[in-house]
Amino acid sequence: MTIFSQLGNEFEEVVFFHDPPSGLRAIVAIHSTALGPALGGTRFYPFGSEEDALRDVLRLARGMTYKAAAGGLDLGGGKAVIIGDPMRDKSEELLRAYGRFIESLGGRYITAVDVGTSREDMDVLRRETRWVTGVSKRLGGSGDPSPVTAYGVFQGLRACAEETLRTPSLEGVRVVVQGVGKVGFSLVKHLTEAGAVVTVADVDVDAVGRAVGEFGVDTAEPDKAHALECDILAPCALGAVIRDDTIPELKCKVVAGAANNQLERPEHGDALAELGILYAPDFVINAGGLINVADELIGYDRERAIKKVEDIYRTLREVFRRARLERITPAEAAIRMAEDRIARVSRIRLLWVPRQVRADRTTA
Ligand code: NAD
Repeated sequence: MTIFSQLGNEFEEVVFFHDPPSGLRAIVAIHSTALGPALGGTRFYPFGSEEDALRDVLRLARGMTYKAAAGGLDLGGGKAVIIGDPMRDKSEELLRAYGRFIESLGGRYITAVDVGTSREDMDVLRRETRWVTGVSKRLGGSGDPSPVTAYGVFQGLRACAEETLRTPSLEGVRVVVQGVGKVGFSLVKHLTEAGAVVTVADVDVDAVGRAVGEFGVDTAEPDKAHALECDILAPCALGAVIRDDTIPELKCKVVAGAANNQLERPEHGDALAELGILYAPDFVINAGGLINVADELIGYDRERAIKKVEDIYRTLREVFRRARLERITPAEAAIRMAEDRIARVSRIRLLWVPRQVRADRTTA
């Protein structure tokens, strides 16, 4: 495996953690610390190969750089993977060994929950390292981020409505929510309160039942949901919903939801634009969870976190404006905005500040 060639001109640091007695095999990828320490979750997953694990952690770490930058956070991008089956291989010893390794990075990488890890795991890590978020409330944690993510998505949908329907009101707007799990369910609550006409779809009949029971919404078959005629299709389940076979079937004006990696490939963003369908870049609209968890680093204050999540509305408006002005897709506009912010902040960091003042600021 040629590791450096995979790093291209990007990535600052890739670290391999190895603790044979506990079975720990982990990779931390720090994509950028230009804006601050690299924050991103730890994915515990039985990767098919070490190459797959490395490819995934690099891809995910890069995504976190853009998400944090677009979210206006003073954070860089990073991610970690632990290779193994979380059901079988997870143990206190392994997690604590992992925590000690994270501590050894001195705060350049801060971890959080991802697929295969939980709040309880973060509490175990906290016993060995300060550099962990998503811990229990009694340890200063912010709790489940999903309702906050949903609130951010809701703000994003208002921006989409303003762009396409010329009003941020969602009253009477037809929204299909694909996936009513932790985020989707909360999103439906906001939407119905705002008077939207909501249809839900989920492969889990209990999840559908909960949404119907609570909000009285319509339902659709999960494999047909993307093809329903509506104003907004909100993917809140898995990634790669927008792909070669689904794009010709779309009958919506907007694609905007919580799911990560909604476009199977970047070109699918161009295909949506050609059809006149507005796309809200996923890493902008679903940043609420990250914004929420980042607040733990300065002593969690829910009201402050929510206020910052509301900015997703304004950020998306700016993304759409730039896309229009520069005749590019919203996905490209969002990437340019994130890169511009990284460049601007990196430049001001070159201004010299006396060491004593710097030290005071970091402990304030
Ligand atoms: P979840 O597992 O609680 O919910 C996902 C739901 O989608 C489940 O109810 C599942 O049954 C359903 N689903 C799976 N396949 C489906 C299909 N083909 N069609 C319809 N429904 C299907 O997950 P979540 O935490 O609600 O996250 C949803 C998405 O948002 C994920 O892509 C996640 O990566 C992303 N996201 C979540 C957060 C967060 O704070 N939880 C933050 C950022 C991004």
